[in-house]
Parts: sequence; structure tokens; C-alpha cells
Amino acid sequence: MSDTTNLHIAVVGGGPGGYAAAFLAADLGMAVTLIDPEVNPGGVCLYRGCIPSKALLHVAKLLEESQQSKDWGIEFAAPKIDLARLRSWKESVVKKLTGGLGVLSKQRKVHYVQGRAALENSTTLRVTKSDGTQESLIFDRIILATGSRPAIVPTLKLDSPRMMDSTGALNLEDIPATLLVVGGGYIGLELGSVYAALGTRVTVVEMLPGLLPGADRDLVTPLHKRLEKMFDGILLNTTVAAVKDEGGGIRATFDGPEVKEREKVFDRVLVSVGRKPNSEIPGLEKTRVQVGPRGFIQVNKQLQTDDPDIYAIGDVVGEPMLAHKASHEGRIAVEVIAGHKVAFEPNAIPAVVFTDPEIAWCGLTETEAQRQNREIKVTRFPWAASGRAITLDRPDGMTKLIFDPQTERLLGVGIVGAGAGELIAEGVLAIEMAALARDVASTIHPHPTLSETIMESAEVFFGTSTHIYRPKRG
Ligand SMILES: Cc1cc2nc3c(=O)[nH]c(=O)nc-3n(C[C@H](O)[C@H](O)[C@H](O)COP(=O)(O)OP(=O)(O)OC[C@H]3O[C@@H](n4cnc5c(N)ncnc54)[C@H](O)[C@@H]3O)c2cc1C
Repeated sequence: MSDTTNLHIAVVGGGPGGYAAAFLAADLGMAVTLIDPEVNPGGVCLYRGCIPSKALLHVAKLLEESQQSKDWGIEFAAPKIDLARLRSWKESVVKKLTGGLGVLSKQRKVHYVQGRAALENSTTLRVTKSDGTQESLIFDRIILATGSRPAIVPTLKLDSPRMMDSTGALNLEDIPATLLVVGGGYIGLELGSVYAALGTRVTVVEMLPGLLPGADRDLVTPLHKRLEKMFDGILLNTTVAAVKDEGGGIRATFDGPEVKEREKVFDRVLVSVGRKPNSEIPGLEKTRVQVGPRGFIQVNKQLQTDDPDIYAIGDVVGEPMLAHKASHEGRIAVEVIAGHKVAFEPNAIPAVVFTDPEIAWCGLTETEAQRQNREIKVTRFPWAASGRAITLDRPDGMTKLIFDPQTERLLGVGIVGAGAGELIAEGVLAIEMAALARDVASTIHPHPTLSETIMESAEVFFGTSTHIYRPKRG
């Protein structure tokens, strides 16, 4: 390992990409400066993304289960929602975690600067601190981890307090009677679920023929069915052509072949149509860094930009825009700087939609295999045959595995069901370890757990799943 103790690294952006990079660089003995506008590291994920949304989804789940419990002989009174307290609990979660990162940063002697950075050249940053003072700092290497922001659709640009992006929706200013969610991606569905659980009548509009484009359709179906009950409406193949603030609400005009009601008024509108990379970093043009046509900073497998002294990681370099991908890239970039022979080349990046049921997948999807015309063998284990799923009264799940039929190697995993987000980690490990169907099938899983559905789905590969009877042919 080369000596990296004399290297001075700057990390621009304190999200899960930036702080993971900064912390590893400090652990490897480098001098590290981490710059972010917030008082502590955390970025979008901790302040206005993953963490606050999951805190609210936890509450949504509780509310949903308190309804379902009637079927189990337990009836609760109608919930009283103290919105101020719910908000402050969510904020306390964010504060606890970002404060913890602040402590970890100090313990590692990372020089944390609250402010914004601009590039003066490939190795010099002009930092404008939160108190307004400016400072030019010179580094050996710079890692750009500036993340992303909500995308804006020109037709939905309306200066009205009733219009929200994901950040506004997480602020939870009120519980509107009606909410229009524009965009059937994971952020819209997660936040729509929160509001629906709190009592809002939610309508989701998606311009494509299905929710969650990118996920296999058989994983989406159980969620779609449940959301149809939870939401007022799910309008597919539909776009919102215009929005108008009429004082008492936002009038939305719908467009599409299946539209029955052309116009409808909503108390609030959440626009969640994707995210845009924050690649317009001031002074970037003074370096050799190249930005691609979709606005992502271009990097190679070592996360190095076209400027050899500058690396870039996380949402600003491309899809999937997920926190764990950003962190992994951050750690790889630092290892590369430290002289290790590494590259960002995962076999599986998990994606989780934290709705109810959850959807999670990793590695090759069936849709992608079809697109590539690649021969695969898919096995499915329905949760109706899982003892644990029945004890939870959640048989509406399915675990599917995607194998290479020749080598029997596991290529992909898809799960829909309560807690799928936790289960998918086993799939990621199995794929990364190049597990074969036999490896997964003959690994003893604890009973009764939902994790058994992964083992049994692998048993399906051999036609010998314990809890599925398949009559012999002939
Ligand atoms: C509502 C919502 C829910 C989400 N849920 C999940 C989830 O459950 N799981 C998941 O994996 N992902 C989730 N995400 C996505 C996740 O938040 C991002 O993928 C992740 O935060 C990306 O990390 P990052 O380090 O690339 O950048 P970010 O977290 O975006 O952080 C970038 C930081 O850089 C700062 N910055 C920008 N420019 C400058 C500059 N010039 N100088 C200094 N600082 C600068 C920004 O202010 C920001 O703090 C969610 C996102 C949203 C919006």
C-alpha cells in the first residue's frame, strides 16, 4: 500500500457519497476537508430523502396495521394525529443521525467546512462559508459529491404554496384532504403512501403504462393492487398537461388516451418526476471535467473524471441515484487515490421501494434479460406458501430468482412483500459471491422467517421446493 498520509483531499458535498469518502480517506491517514452547506454531514439522504421518508413510512405502516388488526380480533380507536409532534419526531431522527455524523467527522479529524465550494482550477477550491467569508484552499485531489435535486417539468412550474417537491412533502405542513402525485416512481409512491395513511385522498398520475418503470411487472402487481385500495386513483398512460392555482386548490388538467375526467382540483400537488444531477458546480469549466448529455459528470470505473486530479461520485455521476451506490463509489474513489487496484464494478446494486408491500431487486432483472435476449431460468416462490408470511397475515408476496440455466449461477433476485428491503441483502451477497442455485438451496435458513422464501425459490430450480407440490410428469 502506498503512503497516503501526505495527501490532502477535498470532498465537495456531505451526502452519503461525500461523507463515506471523507471518513475512509481519514481512516487511511489522509488530511481531509469536507465541504457542505449544512451544519453537519448527511446530504439529501439524511436531511430530505431516505431517512425522513422512512421515519414517516414507519408511522404509515403502524397506521395501516392498526386497521388490519381488526381481522385478528384487536380493534383500536381511530388514530389521533398530532402533526406537530410527528414532524418533531421525524426531525429528531434527522438531527440524531446528522449530529452523529458530525461527531464521527470530528473524531476522525476531518476538517468540516459549512459552506459551498467553487472550483478555481483542478486543485484549488474557493469556499464560501456559511458566515459569508471566503477562502481559497489547495488540495492534491478533489472528490465531487454534489448529488442531485428534484427535476422540474416546465408545464408544472407554478409558484404556489400548494405545489410541492419531495422536500416540501417531507415538511408535512398539513394533511391535505386531496393530493395529486405526479410521477409513479418510488419517491412519489412512498410519499403518497405516507399521506394516504394519514388520511389524505391520493391520486397518482404516471405517463407510462405501469408504476415503477424499471421494476419487473410481476413484482409491481401486488403493490399496484394494494395501492388501488389505499389511493383514490392511479392514472396510467396519463400526463398532467397544466396546473392552475385557483385559490382554493390546484386545478390539474390531464391528458392521455384513458383519461375520463379531464380536470380535477386538488388541495396539494406533489411533483416527483425524477432527479437532476447537481453538475453545474461553479468553476467546473476551469477544469478538464466533462459533463455528459444528461448532465452527469463523466467518470471511468475508478470514478476519475477527465481531469486526473478530480474524482466524482454519487448521484452526480449517474444512475442508479441511490445512497448506497454513492457510498460505495465514494469508498472506491478514495481507495483508487490511495493507490489500491480497485474499480467500481458491482454485480448487483440493490434497489428498494419502501412502500407496503416493499419491492426490492438486485442484479439482472427479467425485463433486462428479455431486452438483452438473454436465456435465463426464473424461479418463483409465492409467500402464500411461507409460514412466516401467514403468521404476519401478509401472503401477498413473492420471491423470484433469476439463474443462468447453463451454469446455474444466480444472476438476479426480485422480491415483493413486507420487509423485502431487508431480505434483498442476502441476494446481493449471493450474487457477489457467485452463488449457484445449489448453494442457495442448501444453505440452512432460520424458521419461521421470510428469508426461507429465498432458499425455497432456489429449491424450485430443482423442482424440489418443500412447500410447493409439483405433480410428476408422465
Ligand atoms: C424523498 C427521497 C427519498 C429517498 N429515499 C432513498 C432511499 O430510501 N434509499 C436510497 O438509497 N436513496 C434514497 N434517495 C436518494 C438518495 O437520497 C441519494 O441517492 C443520495 O443522497 C445521493 O448521495 P450523494 O452523496 O450523491 O449526494 P446528496 O445526498 O445529494 O448530497 C450532496 C450534497 O452536496 C451539497 N452540495 C452541492 N453542491 C455543493 C457545492 N458546490 N459545495 C458544497 N456542497 C455542495 C448538497 O447541498 C448536498 O448536501 C431518496 C431521495 C429522496 C429525495
